[in-house]
Amino acid sequence: MRMECNIALALKRAGESFPFSWEGRLAPEEFGGERLVFPETVRIAGELCFDGDALTVTGTCKVPVRRNCARCNAAATQTVALSFSERFLRETTEDEAYTCNGDTLSLERMFWDGFWLHLPMTALCRADCESACSEETEKENPFAILRTLHPESAGQE
Ligand SMILES: [Zn+2]
Repeated sequence: MRMECNIALALKRAGESFPFSWEGRLAPEEFGGERLVFPETVRIAGELCFDGDALTVTGTCKVPVRRNCARCNAAATQTVALSFSERFLRETTEDEAYTCNGDTLSLERMFWDGFWLHLPMTALCRADCESACSEETEKENPFAILRTLHPESAGQE
């Protein structure tokens, strides 16, 4: 599903702000060997305003992401909150700039730039997962303490 919105009215009436929104589902993404799943509909909403040269797009979006806990690998859900304020140039060949041609604005590049920038490197299934996991490890391995006392018996790991 294309992440687009119609900007015909905003282009026609420069200087006025118009609300816009986009709703849709996102396909899973790969992130450093991890699989990110988007379990809910994502909604981007905000305003756009054309000043004669460029379209200023402001908006916000909350993106629930299902991923794996960095400590125990259980399912972990994280919400990435984004806020946008970008200028989209018309009729430019600048590679770095966001652009819009015709009456359709593609939000895709702005969305993913913001998403990857704000996505935390890792996720935890719950805030105290780290302590829970290390307790378990100690319980499962009663000799762990001996390794600390006699590091030479720990072997080459
Ligand atoms: Zn965990």
